[in-house]
Amino acid sequence: MAKLRVELFEEAVGQDKFVLGGKGFGLVEMTAIGLPVPPGFIVTTDVCKEYYAQRGKVPGGLFDEIRKEVSEIEAKTGRKFGGSEKPLLFSVRSGAPFSMPGMMDTILNLGLNDLTTERLAQITKNERFAYDSYRRLIQMFGKVAMGADGEHFETILEERKKSAGVKMDIDLSPKEIREVVKEFKEVIRKDTGREFPQDPHTQLEMAVVAVLKSWNNARAKEYRKYYGISEGLGTAINIQVMVFGNSGQTSGSGVGFTRNPSTGEKKLYGEYLSNSQGEDVVAGVRTPVSVDKVDQMLRRELEEVAKKLEGHFKDMQDFEFTVEDGKLYLLQTRNGKRTAQAAVKVAVDMAKEGLISLEDSVSRVEPEMLETLLHRRLDPSAGDKPIAKGLDASPGAASGVVVFETDEAAKVGGSQKIILVRPETTPEDIKGLIASQGVLTVRGGMTSHAAVVARGMGKPAVVGCGEIEIDKERTRFVTKSGVSITKGETITIDGTTGSVYKGEVRMVDPEPSAELNELLGSADRIRRLQVWANADTPEAARKARDFGAQGIGLCRTERMFNAPNRLPIVRAMIMSRNDEDRKKHLYELFPFQLSDFVEIFTAMRGRPVVVRLLDLPLHEFLPPLEELLVHMQELKERGAPAGEIRENELILNRVTELSEHNPMIGHRGCRLAVTYPEIYEMQTKAILKAAMEVAAKGEPPRVKIMIPLVAIAGEFTYLRKVIDEAAKELFKETGSEIPYQVGTMIETPRAALTAGEIALYSDFFSFGTNDLTQTTFGFSRDDVEAKFIPRYLQLGILEKSPFDSVDGSGVGKLVRMAVDEGRKSKPGLEIGICGEHGGDPKSIVLFNEAGLNYVSCSAFRVPIARLAAAQATLTQKKTSSTV
Ligand code: ADP
Ligand code: MG
Ligand code: MG
Repeated sequence: MAKLRVELFEEAVGQDKFVLGGKGFGLVEMTAIGLPVPPGFIVTTDVCKEYYAQRGKVPGGLFDEIRKEVSEIEAKTGRKFGGSEKPLLFSVRSGAPFSMPGMMDTILNLGLNDLTTERLAQITKNERFAYDSYRRLIQMFGKVAMGADGEHFETILEERKKSAGVKMDIDLSPKEIREVVKEFKEVIRKDTGREFPQDPHTQLEMAVVAVLKSWNNARAKEYRKYYGISEGLGTAINIQVMVFGNSGQTSGSGVGFTRNPSTGEKKLYGEYLSNSQGEDVVAGVRTPVSVDKVDQMLRRELEEVAKKLEGHFKDMQDFEFTVEDGKLYLLQTRNGKRTAQAAVKVAVDMAKEGLISLEDSVSRVEPEMLETLLHRRLDPSAGDKPIAKGLDASPGAASGVVVFETDEAAKVGGSQKIILVRPETTPEDIKGLIASQGVLTVRGGMTSHAAVVARGMGKPAVVGCGEIEIDKERTRFVTKSGVSITKGETITIDGTTGSVYKGEVRMVDPEPSAELNELLGSADRIRRLQVWANADTPEAARKARDFGAQGIGLCRTERMFNAPNRLPIVRAMIMSRNDEDRKKHLYELFPFQLSDFVEIFTAMRGRPVVVRLLDLPLHEFLPPLEELLVHMQELKERGAPAGEIRENELILNRVTELSEHNPMIGHRGCRLAVTYPEIYEMQTKAILKAAMEVAAKGEPPRVKIMIPLVAIAGEFTYLRKVIDEAAKELFKETGSEIPYQVGTMIETPRAALTAGEIALYSDFFSFGTNDLTQTTFGFSRDDVEAKFIPRYLQLGILEKSPFDSVDGSGVGKLVRMAVDEGRKSKPGLEIGICGEHGGDPKSIVLFNEAGLNYVSCSAFRVPIARLAAAQATLTQKKTSSTV
């Protein structure tokens, strides 16, 4: 049997928060560094664990041990628990290793009974204070330890205030509070069939049992499940001598932060409320004052405390204090929650102050937090209320007028700010997305088309917003709560929170602060992994470079085909019945491709750019089958000319021909290029010609041509020949040359399995982990999130969506294997990853360990990846030095 552990604050020094709980740990440490903490003791988490190991039986001897500690404190303070001379009172506070709002409320003033309350009133000559304390005890104890209905107490208090004609508890007269006490006792009697216990030790024991039980109440369990806190940790119990902030005007209670939690500014921050106890400050019973305004003496004392706390805990602290008759006591401390801005500033400042190392400062900031600092965002002080909520698919905020049709968006988007609102989007809608400030969809998950495209473009998106309904005529949408927004009306969407607002909400620009740049600078010096960006447009490429991208790891060429002035040509090409026709149309696209690449290479100023050749299946460039069928019906019904009908029929036939059951694993990527090599031939020439043009003017770009979806080395060698021959032809035509590389994506399991062979011919690898995840699991990404992943997560079949964080044991294994095999064939082979996982901090740890050269992610995630890569290096160092 584990030894029962009940320990005084001063005895427990050196033990961690898993034994002492978070609150207990803070109290023990503060006691040890000589801060004024009211004495007390801790029933450790071991006791709680044993309580549950014995199926809810209080471990034998526990109450004796508690009594022993109580007598020690009695001896130390010269007062008696429940005694009639200067009674000693306790608070009983739960305290799990991680802060858990779902658990038991703290019980204050334990030890008061009819007798001691009377004594307290006499000694303090403050009857109101004594009875107010007693009233609070009965209320909290009745509810938490005896199971009385909390509302019954509230009602009595409310009615009493009403009949006395006062607003606040504090204004009730002692006589009235005595009445309340009587009624409260009556509530307990009625609700529980028992009396409020007069014996202090009985009170204490019941409170201890209540804390033990609260570890397993429904709210606490729910909370643990949500935050992934282990069921086995157990809670500790803190039993601490009461100090009284409610004993008069020279008393009070407050909360403080050692620095400003919202800006990070190094200045004491907090609030204080005189003549108050416990939660009064936060509960808003009266308006507290800022610690700036408390009297000089107290302020100076609090500043001393803040300095001591930071010196010891090496982090910004959030602390609770109480003043009793002018004497300051500390009741709690923990690392303070803070905004992203404050997190960055505090980490950088503390390193400068010499409080922590540079490495520590880099580890301090959660990479994901940076997200909010890099996008235009709603002014937090604007105070508008959302009219609907959807999924926060792509961060940032945007305002614009509502447009429902893609064609219209493309038309008016140039001259006014618009928000595209669609049931969902398809590749057809790209032109509308390009023309809009942001997108709102009714259906679709975090990996839906709209979400992925918007993230890639760095535009805000709210998707899967089932709370709105678009009417059939597409002239307006209506929210669940009945707000109607018609076409042309202005709305604001916030992709960081998934909220939709009526009208234009005030916004603030992201200012990458000096501190953020400093922090990222430190991260850059630490990390081994390079960070590149996925960017399809010159605009995105420039953004990526500004955010510190060292190259472009994925430049998709589909968008270039999708632009409104190009799609008709692409369609004509697809409709071609012979090679000659096809080639003719294909080369009409050449000038467009050329100018796109020139801009992107120019933007990247000599940094590497990986251009992926066409990957999409052809049918995605044609109208959907359903649409054509409906259109055909219409044409016939209105007796359209035969020519028009014939034309629609031709498209319909081609779409039927191209349609596949599983287009994701169908005729696309390199497979399509093996059928129509002229597509890659044209693209290669456009890329290299652009590179030569840019090189002639300035820094020569580092061109890397990438073939998608390879599964067989033979596919790669065939297409490499197509590319090399196109290059040779171009070089001959132009009479000059430029170096280039040809590499492959590794995004099928077979490519990973045969990486050793493919590496013989390929100049580089880039993992396409989105498709590699789909093909490894055999999941279709578009169906996954809404349809069955939630159930898998709920049942624990999966811990996390493999599209959010790379699946370590499956997909990760393929990655590691392909890296090893590839480098065995070709030492020093350059390997990166360009799937969306490239911007996920957890996945970055895996990629770092696998020995990749770089991760590539969307421009807006580049700073996040820089920080995460540095943290990955630090963790790797730590684990390898402890092994
Ligand atoms: P929480 O976990 O909600 O912060 P706490 O255990 O910190 O709960 O207690 C709630 C309130 O009671 C806090 O304001 C705290 O400062 C106050 N409190 C707790 N113990 C004492 C005590 N011994 N003397 C005076 N106030 C106390
Ligand atoms: Mg607290
Ligand atoms: Mg792919």
